[in-house]
Amino acid sequence: MNTRDTQCQFTVAPTELASALAQGAALSLPGALINGKCENGGGGQHFVLDPVTGSAIGEFHAATAVQVEKAAKAAARALPSWKAKNRLERARVLRAIADRIEQAHDELAALQRHNNGKPAGEAEVDVLDVINTFRYYGDVCANMKNLQVEDLDLGVASYCAQMHYEACGSVALIVPWNFPMVTTAWKVAAALAAGCTIVLKPSELTPVAELALANLIHEAGLPPGVLNLVFGSADTGRALVSHPGMAKVSFTGSTETGVAVMRECAQRMARVSLELGGKSALIVCADANLNLAVELAVSGAFCNAGQMCSATSRILVQDSVYDEFTSRLKAAVEALKVGGPDANMGPVISARQLEKILGYVARAHADNIPVLAKGHLPEDTPPGFFIAPRVYADVPHDHPLWTEEIFGPVACVRRFSTYQQAVQIANDSQFGLVATVVTENSEAAKTMSDGLQAGLVWINAPQMIFPGTSWGGFKRSGIGRELGVAGMRAYQEMKQVLRTA
Ligand code: NAD
Repeated sequence: MNTRDTQCQFTVAPTELASALAQGAALSLPGALINGKCENGGGGQHFVLDPVTGSAIGEFHAATAVQVEKAAKAAARALPSWKAKNRLERARVLRAIADRIEQAHDELAALQRHNNGKPAGEAEVDVLDVINTFRYYGDVCANMKNLQVEDLDLGVASYCAQMHYEACGSVALIVPWNFPMVTTAWKVAAALAAGCTIVLKPSELTPVAELALANLIHEAGLPPGVLNLVFGSADTGRALVSHPGMAKVSFTGSTETGVAVMRECAQRMARVSLELGGKSALIVCADANLNLAVELAVSGAFCNAGQMCSATSRILVQDSVYDEFTSRLKAAVEALKVGGPDANMGPVISARQLEKILGYVARAHADNIPVLAKGHLPEDTPPGFFIAPRVYADVPHDHPLWTEEIFGPVACVRRFSTYQQAVQIANDSQFGLVATVVTENSEAAKTMSDGLQAGLVWINAPQMIFPGTSWGGFKRSGIGRELGVAGMRAYQEMKQVLRTA
C-alpha cells in the first residue's frame, strides 16, 4: 500500500494522518482496504470524532456486504501462499512489522489520543503493547520448532504419527474501540503466526489507528490480500460473521453482541473465540499495603476512563481496614485530573457512552446509594465526553451498579470479613474475566487465586498483560484465550497423520 493511496488519494500513513489531525484537517477515510488498496465504502456515512472535543475529525462510508465479499475473496486468494510459508518466513515478516511500528511509535500514539481521547501515557503504553505483541509472535515463529509439525511419541514401535498444525483458513477479526490497536495486534499477530489470512473489522468509532497500523504492516512486507480491512458498524460486522469464507471468527466486544456472533457461527460450525465483558473484583485484605491497594484500585477502575473489560470496579475491603482504605481512596479519586494536558483520566468514547454511564449515575441517585467519592471536572475541561469519576458505597449485591458492566469511571466498594466471603462475593457475578488481590499474606493470596473464577488473577500487581501469557475469561466473559502459544493455536486446526512404521 502506498503512503498516499494512488487510487483514491486517501491519507493512510501514520505521519500524514497525525500531521493532518494536528493541523485540524478533516480526514476522508476509506471504507475498505482490500488486497493492499484502499477504496471508498458504498454504505452509510460515519463521522469519526475526537472524544476530547466532541468534534468530527473525519468521515468514511461503511463497507457493504459486496465489499465484505470482495475482502473475503482477497483473503481466500492469499491463503495458499501465506499458509505455505514456513515459520521462519512468518517470523521475518512479524519481526519486520514490530520494527516498523516501533519507528512510528510517536505518530501512532498521537492517533490514539486524537481518535480515542487517551491521555499521552496511556496511548504510549498501547503502542508498546502492539510492538511487543508482534515481536513476541515473531519470536514464537522463529523459535518454536513444532509450530507446524510435531512428531508424536506413541510408545509403540509399529506405528508412528505426526501432528500437523494447519492454519484454519481465512479468519474474521472484529474489535471494539477501547483498546483498538492493542486488541487488533493480539488477534492479527497470532493469526499471521498461525498462517491465516484475515478480514479485520475495526470499531466504527476508532478506525484511524487501525488504518495507520495496516499501512505499516504492509510497508513491513506483508503480501497484499493477507490482511484486509472493512470499516463499518453492526451491518458490516454481521456480513463478515455470516460469510461462508470465514473459517473462524475472533470477536472482542460486548457479551450481548458476542452471543449474536456465536449464534451465527453455530449455523455453519465456524470456529469462534469470544473476548467479552467483565465486572471484576479487587480484594483488599486487612494486611494489604494500603498505599499500593489505593493505587491499584484507582488504576483498576479509572484507567482508560473505566472503559476496560478488565475494570476492577467492584472493590471488596476487609472490615478492619475499611475506614482507612476508603478515606485514602476518596482522597485519591478527588485528586484525579480529568481532561487537560496533564490529565490522569480522559473522556469516554462517545455521547452515547456518556449517556449510558449517566443513566447508572441517575439510577444510583434515585436509589439513594451513597457516594463515597466524586472527582471534579475543572472549568477549563474541553467540551468533549468528560465525566467525573465516582465511587459508591454500600451498594446492594443485586443492584445494577454492582452487577452490570458500566464501562465508565464508576466503581463500588463493599466490606467483607473472611477470605472465603471475599471469594464468594467476587464470584457472585455473571462474568469472570480478571481479579486483583492485595495482601501481604501468601496463604491468603493462594486461597483467593485458587477460589476466584477469573481468567487472570493479579496479586499486588498492576494490570500488566505480557504477550507470552494468556487473556480471556470464565463464564459470560467469553470463550477461548488470546495471547501466548494457545492464542496462536486457536487459529489452527490439528491434523494427525498416523502410519505404520
Ligand atoms: P460491541 O459489542 O458493541 O461492538 C464490538 C464490535 O462488534 C464493533 O466493531 C462493532 O461494530 C461490532 N458489532 C456490533 N454488532 C455486531 C454484530 N451483530 N455482528 C458483528 N459485529 C458487530 O462492543 P463495544 O461497545 O465496541 O466494546 C465494548 C465492549 O467490549 C465491552 O462490553 C467490553 O467489556 C468488551 N471488551 C472486551 C474485551 C476482552 O478482552 N474481554 C476487551 C475489550 C472490550
